[in-house]
Amino acid sequence: MALYDFTAPRLFVEADLAEGRVLPLERAQANYLLTVLRKAEGEPVLLFNGRDGEWRADICPNGRKSADLKVVERTRPQPAPPDLHYLFAPLKTGRLDYMAQKAVEMGAGTLRPVFTRFTQGERIKLDRLRANAIEAAEQCGILAIPTVAEPERLPAALAALEPERLLVFCDEDAPVADPVAALRGATDGKTPPLAVLVGPEGGFHAEERALIAARPNTVALSLGPRILRADTAAVAVMALVQAVLGDGR
Ligand code: SAH
Repeated sequence: MALYDFTAPRLFVEADLAEGRVLPLERAQANYLLTVLRKAEGEPVLLFNGRDGEWRADICPNGRKSADLKVVERTRPQPAPPDLHYLFAPLKTGRLDYMAQKAVEMGAGTLRPVFTRFTQGERIKLDRLRANAIEAAEQCGILAIPTVAEPERLPAALAALEPERLLVFCDEDAPVADPVAALRGATDGKTPPLAVLVGPEGGFHAEERALIAARPNTVALSLGPRILRADTAAVAVMALVQAVLGDGR
């Protein structure tokens, strides 16, 4: 089997996974496998729960609309969760769904919602955020489900970061400069634990910018001469950080 088998559907389950276990499928999952994907008896499904690695299971239909999954063998060990904290100002629902999924696909290990001065709305649905993280994991073969932290206001979010954690702050007002050099210059060759911060649709307030820049071990990063949408900035900064300092080296 290739490193990742994307021919078999991947499903997140809450249950413990071990050889021989039989898991009754939830109705929505049974519908997805039997009706949408038209999977037949004995066809493989890949299961993961964020704790026990990835397991191959066989579909055992019982009736037209329901099925059990018989867990057969472990196909991949459980990796440690990535240690990259992704801090972000909540966006409007559709864009937040997209941004959360992209951050997870690009290696965020903890999603940390941060309310800033210009954040739209004062509420965030954490269960929706977790569902997006799980969906991204199902689609991209990620086995460690990122942690979703409680939302915090900016000062508390900054204070919660360990001093040794390098904060890469996407500053839309930063002078355009080589982001790779900026990231390399912030670590003098070491590989610190990482955090990334992306602002809201309205950007950062000047006082917030000063507060963030005052934190030691923080680098204000320019993502180029154009103002990116926050969800675009998420992908851009994660690609840069992972390539220069993260697991993309
Ligand atoms: N009004 C747009 C963009 C607002 S800026 C929108 O609706 O999304 C959103 C955030 O993306 C900023 O706070 C910053 O964190 C990041 N960002 C956007 N363009 C950037 C740039 N050129 N350099 C650094 N960060 C940027």
